[in-house]
Amino acid sequence: MRVLVTGGAGYIGSVVTAELLSAGHQVTVLDNLSTGHADAVPAGAEFVEAGITEADPVLAAGGFDAVVHFAAKSLVPESVTAPELYWHNNTSGTLALLESMRRHDVRTIVFSSTAATYGEPDSVPILESSPTRPTNPYGASKLAVDHMLTSYARAHGFSAVSLRYFNVAGARITPENSQGERHATETHLIPIALQVAAGLRPQLQVNGVHYPTPDGSCVRDYIHVLDLADAHLRALERATRDQADGSDGQGSHLICNLGSGSGSSVREVIESVRRITGRPTPAVDAPNRAGDPAVLIASNDKAAAELGWRPTRDLDRMVADAWQFFQQLSPETAGSTGADHG
Ligand code: UDP
Repeated sequence: MRVLVTGGAGYIGSVVTAELLSAGHQVTVLDNLSTGHADAVPAGAEFVEAGITEADPVLAAGGFDAVVHFAAKSLVPESVTAPELYWHNNTSGTLALLESMRRHDVRTIVFSSTAATYGEPDSVPILESSPTRPTNPYGASKLAVDHMLTSYARAHGFSAVSLRYFNVAGARITPENSQGERHATETHLIPIALQVAAGLRPQLQVNGVHYPTPDGSCVRDYIHVLDLADAHLRALERATRDQADGSDGQGSHLICNLGSGSGSSVREVIESVRRITGRPTPAVDAPNRAGDPAVLIASNDKAAAELGWRPTRDLDRMVADAWQFFQQLSPETAGSTGADHG
């Protein structure tokens, strides 16, 4: 299959690109390198340095069967202070991409949605039928795209799968070229904890220690990026099959959560980092981070039923792979720090 991957120079996009290539697909990566890295694009993929509003000439060149769409802005606090960036890039940008797809008759798409579309849940595990009440413009900008895809499926015969990620971690380690997380502004727990383990930060803050959870710290649902990639390949197959079956112009839009179905607390993650790295990894108690719910856990039953997907890699494996990737990074990349939270 010939696939256009937007955002293929980023963390998850580069891992999925590598997995698509090893499954024998032909991949073109479209990425404006606003946050991605050209050298993260796996060898074997064609690379076009351009944004998603500039996809038209690429799709016009023809031959694409599907789009896997990752390119987006994804820092929650930035979305609060500069929402225009999120509506512009994530929502209007995707509308332009869908219009290019429609113009060139490419109607199969897998979209990176997010658990942030749900906001604070009434209960866990979170089902795809749970209310969607995003608490920040990032989640809202992605939810708008999910709605857009439902309407494009109905009106324009698109076959779409939206995948709602929970907390993605880990890396794809190979002898030749590994892919992993290396954000200029690091906000996520596991990479920050690894920076502490490596001695690049003095200590880690546990954001909130009086939550109604077994150890008082927040519980999140962590998922290995390779399990996530596996779900994308299955989603692509599913959307392609739906597109072939819908020759009467009938489209489809499937929404699935991608999570492990179980949670780990911040303190459990820190313990895993200590166990895997063998480093002390000092942590101090700190105030709650604004807007952080106590527990976010996915139900992954729908992904199992609809895509035949089950994650197989546990938290220690995520930390071990992330640690190995971190140790391969140059010191200046590995040590980048940031105060934001994603
Ligand atoms: N967290 C923390 N210290 C940090 C970074 C994150 O205690 O330095 C907590 C954060 O409050 C949340 C969990 O770790 O409860 C996961 O945060 P992350 O930013 O990795 O992902 P999010 O759940 O916000 O998408």
